[in-house]
Amino acid sequence: MPAVLGFEGSANKIGVGVVRDGTVLANPRRTYVTAPGTGFLPGDTARHHRAVILDLLQEALTEAGLTSQDIDCIAYTKGPGMGAPLASVAVVARTVAQLWNKPLLGVNHCIGHIEMGRLITGAISPTVLYVSGGNTQISNDPSPGYNIEQMAKRGKKLVDLPYTVKGMDVSFSGILSFIEDAAQRMLATGECTPEDLCFSLQETVFAMLVEITERAMAHCGSKEALIVGGVGCNTRLQEMMAAMCQERGAQLFATDERFCIDNGAMIAQAGWEMFQAGHRTPLRESGITQRYRTDEVEVTWRD
Ligand code: MG
Repeated sequence: MPAVLGFEGSANKIGVGVVRDGTVLANPRRTYVTAPGTGFLPGDTARHHRAVILDLLQEALTEAGLTSQDIDCIAYTKGPGMGAPLASVAVVARTVAQLWNKPLLGVNHCIGHIEMGRLITGAISPTVLYVSGGNTQISNDPSPGYNIEQMAKRGKKLVDLPYTVKGMDVSFSGILSFIEDAAQRMLATGECTPEDLCFSLQETVFAMLVEITERAMAHCGSKEALIVGGVGCNTRLQEMMAAMCQERGAQLFATDERFCIDNGAMIAQAGWEMFQAGHRTPLRESGITQRYRTDEVEVTWRD
């Protein structure tokens, strides 16, 4: 029954998780929160992560009721993400692996999100919609996506926004410019409210995502859809996806903020799958990379 410890720190969240054979034993997390209206810079974020990572490690072990001897493998986020935070977390993972004499595994962050979603929901062979907020630059008090979701609930009027779907690709180009320019005028004339704009933004962008997910499901004959990534905890997105799935006789799987927002257990879980499949990351290859596509990973642990 291997137990894997996972370190995640590719953006403003730092998490340490422990997973043993499909059970999340611990998953503590801290978020680097900056002043409203400002984003998080790589150097400051890395400093935050360095300051709390050892406390989190202790917290995770205590919560799991394990000692270093019970851990079979150390997994960490290799990428993609912000360079400085990734590097500061990887240094700790490498150090811990050497101190405890455990094998090391570099995990793709996106694969972590997908494996976590599969574990928590029990989806068998889902079409996966991975949707993440990244570096959204809107007032971050407490977080941009959450603020938009709450304001959208009070919106009533649907404003026409650019809608671009080409095959399986979506383009969000033009939406921000529209909101900034034309929408400013609309607000001045009282034609719509900020709540209406948040509502319209969600309805438009989510409709694009639901459309391509449905197209993928139709092509693959898929009967399951799984939403992962931080935006996956948006209840309106889940509602729209559920409606689409219901019309197709398919089932929707989604998780809540504990598991779809960046966390350590998702890296531990992907690491657990990799560990069982015989993967190991030699020390000389245990670096990080800011660019690391999901399809660069050879997934040998699934058919
Ligand atoms: Mg993420």
